[in-house]
Amino acid sequence: MSLGVALFGATGSIGESTLSVIKAHPQRFHLAVVSAHSSVDRLVSIIEDFDPKHVILTNAAYAEQLLGRLPPDFKGSVAFGEASLIEAAGSSEVDVVMAAIVGGAGLISTYAAVCAGKKVCIANKESLVMAGGLMMTRAKDQGAVILPIDSEHNAMFQCLPESYVIGEQISGLKQLTLTCSGGPFRTWDVERMEQATPLEAIAHPNWSMGPKVSVDSATLMNKGLELIEATHLFSVSDQQIEVVVHPESVIHSLVEFVDGSVLSQMGSPDMRIPIAQALGFPERLELDIERLSLTAIGKFHFEPVDHKRFPALHLAREAISEGGDRPVVLNAANELAVDAFLQGHLKFTQITSLVSDCLNHIKSQPMSSIEDVLEIDKMCRRQAFEWVRERA
Ligand code: NAD
Ligand code: MG
Repeated sequence: MSLGVALFGATGSIGESTLSVIKAHPQRFHLAVVSAHSSVDRLVSIIEDFDPKHVILTNAAYAEQLLGRLPPDFKGSVAFGEASLIEAAGSSEVDVVMAAIVGGAGLISTYAAVCAGKKVCIANKESLVMAGGLMMTRAKDQGAVILPIDSEHNAMFQCLPESYVIGEQISGLKQLTLTCSGGPFRTWDVERMEQATPLEAIAHPNWSMGPKVSVDSATLMNKGLELIEATHLFSVSDQQIEVVVHPESVIHSLVEFVDGSVLSQMGSPDMRIPIAQALGFPERLELDIERLSLTAIGKFHFEPVDHKRFPALHLAREAISEGGDRPVVLNAANELAVDAFLQGHLKFTQITSLVSDCLNHIKSQPMSSIEDVLEIDKMCRRQAFEWVRERA
């Protein structure tokens, strides 16, 4: 039986890798729904290649543009807006949702897929950072199967027994180790980092990714977000998670058990590997990719994180250990700061200082529903925007 995939964020880096996996397995998957923010050109070619049933854009103007460019034999629908994503997430034509929108913009559609009890492959780590607790509870209630796409979390998942269900406690666990490439500025001093340009920040040494996650990898906020993501996915406290810099990005993470056994998953740094693992789970899908050659790599290196140069990880640790709305504030401030940096309004090193200021000065609010999360997110972005304006 061919599974209907809803690919939210089809035109991004994860979206493209997902399309490549689907294309390699036409008997197993078909594209039921695609969504994108605004890339009409790319959507037209995706429609030509995959003939999806439904196409969703962010707003009416982009949908209008697409309607004028559709291939003549296209029989599907074109819609726009978040309500259409929510509807698609719950559609009976959809078996699997790939949540690959970037940032908090992916929260509602990812949450909707979980509430609809789907198989949900989550690349959109920000949704877990913002609402991981709510997401895990809903997944349990609705029978949704969450599968991690982030390579580190996917690696940890692969080190666990096949019967392990995301969100549950891991039997016999000692600790999780998140590996971290160190990013493009691993060896830079602070003075040099202060002058770093957006182009330098998005030039990741090992992975080819969208701009936001690339900048997060340069500040190491990506590892902070991943630390929070891991607490929810694997039901552990942040104290049970260690972070180790591993510049080769071949060991994607490790799980240590109480008997001293340490398991890891390795592979070339290619996101099609975790994507295929999750889409095919529990079966393995064949991929035509660069094979790992240990002799070509020769040596693996490991080093601790330098928290002086990279304060983001501590900020994330504090946010998750304080709990409540703190991870929402951390995420919102970071998204706004990364955007401001990419637009030339903030220096690279001001990204984490803005996040720190937001955490210190924005008062904690009670948070018990997804609506609360959205409200706090909005309020924090407004405040962070003001501070960027003052600094610019
Ligand atoms: P990207 O910037 O390349 O793509 C983002 C996608 O989201 C695009 O299709 C875009 O059209 C869509 N989008 C952007 N803003 C939107 C909005 N407001 N509403 C609806 N859709 C919108 O990003 P990416 O690198 O593919 O990352 C996607 C997610 O996966 C992020 O959360 C990222 O942290 C995570 N992730 C990415 C990688 C990677 O290798 N790229 C690895 C691990 C995790
Ligand atoms: Mg990752």
